[in-house]
This record gives sequence, C-alpha cells and structure tokens, in this order.
Amino acid sequence: MTAEQEQRFDQLLARVRSWVEGPGESWAERIEETGEVPDELWAELNDLGFLSVTAPADYGGQGLGFTRWMELMEILSRCHGSIRMIVHVVNGIWRAMDGHATEEQRKRFVIPSVTGDIKIAFTLTEPGNGTGADIKSSVVREGDTYYLSGRKHLITFGVRCDYYLLAARVEGTTGHEGTVALLVPRDAPGLRVEDTSDTMGVRGTDHASLTFERTPVPVDHRLGAEGEGLDVFLGGFLTPSRISVAMSCVGLAQRAQQLALDHARSRVTFGKTLSQRQAIQFMLAENAADIEAARQLVLHAARRFEEGADDASMQSSMAKMHAVSMLTTVTDKALQIHGGVGYWRSQTIERVYRDARAQRFEEGTNEVQKAVVFRELLRFAEVQEGTVR
Ligand SMILES: Cc1cc2nc3c(=O)[nH]c(=O)nc-3n(C[C@H](O)[C@H](O)[C@H](O)COP(=O)(O)OP(=O)(O)OC[C@H]3O[C@@H](n4cnc5c(N)ncnc54)[C@H](O)[C@@H]3O)c2cc1C
Repeated sequence: MTAEQEQRFDQLLARVRSWVEGPGESWAERIEETGEVPDELWAELNDLGFLSVTAPADYGGQGLGFTRWMELMEILSRCHGSIRMIVHVVNGIWRAMDGHATEEQRKRFVIPSVTGDIKIAFTLTEPGNGTGADIKSSVVREGDTYYLSGRKHLITFGVRCDYYLLAARVEGTTGHEGTVALLVPRDAPGLRVEDTSDTMGVRGTDHASLTFERTPVPVDHRLGAEGEGLDVFLGGFLTPSRISVAMSCVGLAQRAQQLALDHARSRVTFGKTLSQRQAIQFMLAENAADIEAARQLVLHAARRFEEGADDASMQSSMAKMHAVSMLTTVTDKALQIHGGVGYWRSQTIERVYRDARAQRFEEGTNEVQKAVVFRELLRFAEVQEGTVR
C-alpha cells in the first residue's frame, strides 16, 4: 500500500474501533433486549461502509486487500455475534457469486449486494442430507424456467433476504454432477418460509427453514453452468470465508479475555483480587498465548490466500480448526474466571460464550476441516512423489 492508502486504512481502523466500542455496544444491548436486528442496523452498517470493504471499487466497494480486511474483522468480531455475522456474510457473498456471474448477472445481483440494495442468503444446508455432494433439492427444466423442489434449513437471513443463493441439482443426477447455483427470489411462488430464529446465541439474526414445491426460477438466474453449482458454494469462496470465521474467533476470544481480565482485577476474595491468585494468572496467560498463536496462523492463511498460494485452502482449514478450538477454551476459562455471576444474562461474558459456540458450525465443522487438511496433505505427498502433476 502507498503511504496515502496506509493513512486511509488507519483512519478506517480507528472508525471501526470507535464504532465497536461505542454505538456497537449500544446495539448489542438493544439486540439482546429485543431479540431483533432491525433494518436500521443494516442501514447504519451500510452507511458506515462496513459492508462493502472487500469488493472492488468498480462494484461500489472499497477494494481493501484481504489481509487488511482481516485486521478490521478482528475488531468487528468483538461486537455482538449478529453484527459480526452481517459484516462477515455481506463482505463475502459477492465473491462466491462473482466468479461465475455473467456481466448481466453482475449488474443484477453482485453489485446491488455490495451497495446494500439487495440482501442475499447463502442457502446450502438441508435437513435430510449431508452438506455438499449429498444435497437432494432438485430442479426440472421446462423451457427457460427451472422448477425447484426440496428443503433447506438453518439459513441465515432466510426471513429478511431478497434472494437465496441456493444449491440444487438437476433431477436424476448424483454427486457433483448436475449441481446448479440459483438466485431464487424470496417472494417466488411455491416457497414456504418458516422463521426459525430462536437460537442459543447470535440472537436477533433471522434464520429460516425453506420448503420449495415446484418453485419457478428463471434459467438466467443460474450462476455458472449445470454441474458447476457446488463450485460456487465450495470453490474459491470457501477459503477466504473460513479465514474470516477464524479471525472472528480471534476477535471474540480477545473480547472474552478482556472481560475476564477486568473481572479478575476487580473481584476480591479472601482479601485479594482474583488477579493476585496464581491459578487465575495462569489461565489468563494461557489464554493470551493461545489467542496470539491462533491470530498468527490466521494472518498467515490470509497472506497465503492473497498471494494465490497452492496451500491456501489447507492453511484456511488449519486456521479455522485451530481458531475455533482456541475460542472454545478461551471463552470457557473466561467464564470460569467470572465465577457463578458469569452465568447470568446481566454479564457480557454470558453472551460472548453463547455467540462463540455458533462458530464451530460455520463454514464447516472441525471434522470437515480435518478432512480438507488430510486431503491436501495427501495431494502434496503425491505431488512430491511425482504421482500427481
Ligand atoms: C448459527 C448458524 C448459522 C448457519 N447459517 C447457515 C447458512 O446461512 N446457510 C447454510 O447453508 N447453512 C448454515 N448453517 C449450517 C451449517 O453450515 C451446518 O450446521 C454445518 O455445516 C454442519 O452441518 P449439519 O448441521 O448438517 O451437521 P451434520 O452434517 O448433521 O453433522 C453432525 C455432526 O456429525 C459430523 N459429521 C457429519 N458428517 C460427517 C462425516 N462424513 N464424517 C465425520 N463426521 C461427520 C459433523 O462434523 C457434526 O459434528 C448455519 C449453522 C449455524 C449453527
């Protein structure tokens, strides 16, 4: 970056930090009280430019490099889980679509999603099947229209979105063959939306279960070719998205640690503050080391992605795997340091603990990440042995 760009980045970083510590905290309290994320918050995040950081300037974005974006994500993740969810998804979903969009589709879907004119929900998971090549939602083509049937669930923004970016398959196909990525309008006929927003953490974010019964979708709402559907969902987009979730773990863990440190310094038992007890000091020291180790791994993965390195996918899974485990340990110790009062809703650590748990599912569980890492290990071994080119 040039000196001028560095200066602009520092200003943006300062703006993000002061919003997170001020208005962001007020929003967090309001969301927990009401159980809702109002459109007003989306509009505020959009007006502040927090939803268009990563997209290129000619799409209406700010074109910030990925590693620098992760520095912002680290701070934004110290906020309420729903705020983190909005900035993570909106700054990522344009990338999933863009690689497969025609110029016309870029104008209709990608750019409006960057500018905040439309909201798009990432719609992959199904109640009856595994995620990925096991999906069963299917389409039948009649002329210029697909008729979509099937079910999806756990869909973030599934109630309030304008379009579902949805994975299905041409009826009769299996595996990756015949999969399609479709932009399905929220108000399409034959679609039933059930509001399933009552989650443990990330309160206020809307989630939905969807049932499609011969829902018509124009063929020109398909991104890429038939057979490329899962590439849109599991291709190049997933690597940066995993790194972003991994950085979210780092930011949230920092928040938990700060809360624990503050509590340990002020709570007095038997004439001494908790921070004077070695058992508590050790917990805080371990947390600090674990957070920093994860942070460095995430930044390394971010740089490898930005460089277009061959091991970027493996690095992203390693970073996500490591960071979510770290977050689990750090939030558990931070809650322990709070004592019983930390279990009460009046304490911020109670929300942080619940929000943290969601991150072990996003962009694939650790079991899935390990499968990716192992697949890549095998590939690298075979390349080294000359059995694969
Ligand atoms: C807050 C939240 C928001 C979400 N938002 C979205 C969204 O917007 N869009 C969307 O499409 N999805 C969304 N999801 C779904 C999420 O991506 C999935 O929950 C996650 O990928 C796990 O899939 P599953 O729930 O179907 O678990 P399952 O596949 O039922 O797995 C259950 C357990 O078994 C393990 N497992 C499953 N298969 C295997 C295997 N072959 N080998 C070893 N272990 C295995 C898993 O790791 C997991 O621990 C969201 C989930 C949450 C919690």
